[in-house]
Amino acid sequence: MSAETFEFQVEARQLLQLMIHSIYSNKDVFLRELVSNASDALDKLRLAALRDDSLDADVSDLHIELETDPDARTLTVRDNGIGMSYDEVGKLIGTIANSGTAEFLRELRKAKDDAGAEGLIGQFGVGFYSGFMVADEVTLLTRRAGEPKGTRWTSRGEGTYTLEEADAPQGTSVTLHLKPADPENQLYDYTSEWKLKEVVKRYSDFITWPVRLVGKRDGEGEEGAGPAEPETLNSMKALWARSRDEVSEDEYHELYKHISHDWRDPLETVPLQAEGTFEYQALLFIPSHAPQDLFTQDFKRGVQLYVKRVFIMDDCEALLPPYLRFVKGVVDAQDLSLNVSREILQQDRHIRMMQRRLTKKVLSSVKSMMAGDTERYTTFWREFGAVLKEGLLTDTDNRDALLAVSSFATTRGEEPTTLAQYVERMAEGQEAVYYITGESRQSIDNSPHMEAFRERNIEVLLLTDPVDEVWVDAVGEFQGKRLQSIAKGEIDLAAQGDEKSETEREQQAEEFAGLLGWVKEQLDEDVKEVRLSTRLTVSPACVVADAHDMTPALENMYRAMGQEVPRTKRILELNPGHGLVKGLNQAYRERADHSGLTETAELLYTLAVLAEGGRPTDPAHFVKVVADRLERTL
Ligand code: ADP
Repeated sequence: MSAETFEFQVEARQLLQLMIHSIYSNKDVFLRELVSNASDALDKLRLAALRDDSLDADVSDLHIELETDPDARTLTVRDNGIGMSYDEVGKLIGTIANSGTAEFLRELRKAKDDAGAEGLIGQFGVGFYSGFMVADEVTLLTRRAGEPKGTRWTSRGEGTYTLEEADAPQGTSVTLHLKPADPENQLYDYTSEWKLKEVVKRYSDFITWPVRLVGKRDGEGEEGAGPAEPETLNSMKALWARSRDEVSEDEYHELYKHISHDWRDPLETVPLQAEGTFEYQALLFIPSHAPQDLFTQDFKRGVQLYVKRVFIMDDCEALLPPYLRFVKGVVDAQDLSLNVSREILQQDRHIRMMQRRLTKKVLSSVKSMMAGDTERYTTFWREFGAVLKEGLLTDTDNRDALLAVSSFATTRGEEPTTLAQYVERMAEGQEAVYYITGESRQSIDNSPHMEAFRERNIEVLLLTDPVDEVWVDAVGEFQGKRLQSIAKGEIDLAAQGDEKSETEREQQAEEFAGLLGWVKEQLDEDVKEVRLSTRLTVSPACVVADAHDMTPALENMYRAMGQEVPRTKRILELNPGHGLVKGLNQAYRERADHSGLTETAELLYTLAVLAEGGRPTDPAHFVKVVADRLERTL
C-alpha cells in the first residue's frame, strides 16, 4: 500500500500553525508531553496483557527510549507500549477530539497579542502537537500490540499528513527533525545529552517506567563504536508512596500536569497515606481553574486508580463523590485485585470507606486554605463553589463540613461571608438567616423584596448559582437559625424595628380588606392571594411565593432540563404606604361600581412582575395602556 495524503481537521491545522510559530516560550515541555504519552501507552499495554492472556505482546521490558542523532539533528522518543492501528493514527493524531482544545482555539482567536496567547496555551495541554514547537518535520512509526502491520505517519505540520503501512516494532516512536540549531542559544539543543537529562529530571522524574537515553545507533558495525550503554534518566519513584517532606512542590506539580493534562500548577496538593488492614496511598490535587465542561453531562470525573503501583484505570469515579468531580490525582490501593472492574468498585465496601476518607481529607484541606491562605481559598471558591454546594444537597454526612467552607455574596459588602460570620453579626431579635435567590446579583440587588431589609439594615445573602435554589431548602437551618427566603412566605420584621403597632396594623387591614378581595377577583388567573406587604418601602407592589412554592428561577431550571412544570400562582403584595395603592383604595371605596379600576389593578400586578425581572404576559398591551395613560398626564 502506498502512502496516502490527508488533510488535518480545521482545528488541528490551526493548532499546528500555533505550534510552528511557537508562541509558547518554554519549548522544553514538548518532551514532557511525548514522554507522558509514551508512559500512558505502556500503562495501557500492561493492563491489556493482564486482562487478555492471548494478546501477542512482549511486556518483558517495557520502557521509554530517547535517541539522538546530532548530525542528522533528530530526536526520537520511543516506547514499546500499546501502539496504534492505522485507523487509530488517523483518528487520534489527525483530529482534535478534546472539547477543551476546541474551546482553547476559540479563546485564542480572541486573544490578539502573543502574551495573551501564551497564557492561554498554558491552560490547555496540546500533547503530541507540541513537537512542532521544535521540529519542522515529525515522523511517527507505530504498531499496535498484537497486530502484524505497522503504520508510518509523517507531517511538516502544514495542513497535510501522510499515512502508509510500514514494518515497525511493537509500540510507537516519534522522530522529531529538529529545526536548525541556533548558535546563539545552546540552551535549546535537544540533541544534547545534558539537555535531555535536565528536562526529563525536571518534568518526568516520577514516570513509573524507565526513560533511557541511548546514543546514536548508526555506530553499529563500525569498528570500536558499539551501541552505547543505555542510561536511565528518571528515578521512577511513585510520589504518592513517599512522605511529603521527601518530595518537592515542583515534583508534585509535574505529576499533576502529567495526569490532568493541565499545563498550569494546581491550587492545592492533598497527600494521604492510609495504613492498617486496607492500605492505600492517595495524592489528590485541586486544580487552579474549573474546566469549561464541568457542568456538562459527559464531564469525565474521577482520579486514577493504581493497584500496587500498576495503573488500572483513569477516571475512577467511585473514589470521590460527584460534587468533588474537579479533583484530580492518583489512588494506589494495596489490596484490590488487578482485574477489578468499575461495577465491582461501585459496590465495594472498602472503596466506600476510601471515598469517605478522601472526601473528608479534601474538605479539611479546603478548610485549612480558608484559615491560612484566604487568597487561595477565594480562588477555590470562585472556581468550584458552585459544584461544592451540590454536596449540601446530596451528602448529609458532610453537610456541616461543607457549610463551614462555603461562602456567599451578601448585602453587607463586596467580600463574601460564611454562614457563621453572618450569624455572628445578626442583631438582637433576628431569628432567621435571610437570603434571596436569583439569576444575577444585579437583578436581586434591585428587587423590591429587598426594600424593607435595606431600610432596616438587615443583612441578606445573595444567592445566584442555580444550585442555590435547591440546597437552601434541603439544609433548612444553620446553628439553629432558619434559612429564610425574603421572597417567600410572610416576613415578620416586627421584632427588628418594624415601627407599626399591632393596633395600627389592624386598622390598616380593615381599611384595605375590601380592595384586597376585589383585586384578587380581578387577577384570579395570575395570583392566588392579595395581601398587604411589610417588606416594601418604595415600590407599590411585589409578587412573592408561598413558603413551599418553587421560585420562578427554579421553575425555569426544571423547564430548561425539559421537565413539565405547572405554573405556580404567586401572591401579590401591595404597599399600603404607597400613593398609588392609597389612591386606588380611596377610589375603590368611593366608586360603588369600581368602574375603570380593573386596569389599574392589572398595571400594579405587571409592575410587580417587572420589578423582579419578569415579563408582562402581554407586553404589547402593557405598552399601549401605559402610553395612553402617560399621554393623559401631559
Ligand atoms: P492527549 O495525550 O492529550 O490525549 P495527544 O495529542 O498527545 O493528546 O494524543 C492523542 C492520542 O493519541 C492519545 O490520547 C493516545 O490515544 C494517542 N497516542 C499519542 N501518543 C501515543 C503513544 N506513544 N502510544 C500510543 N498512543 C498514543
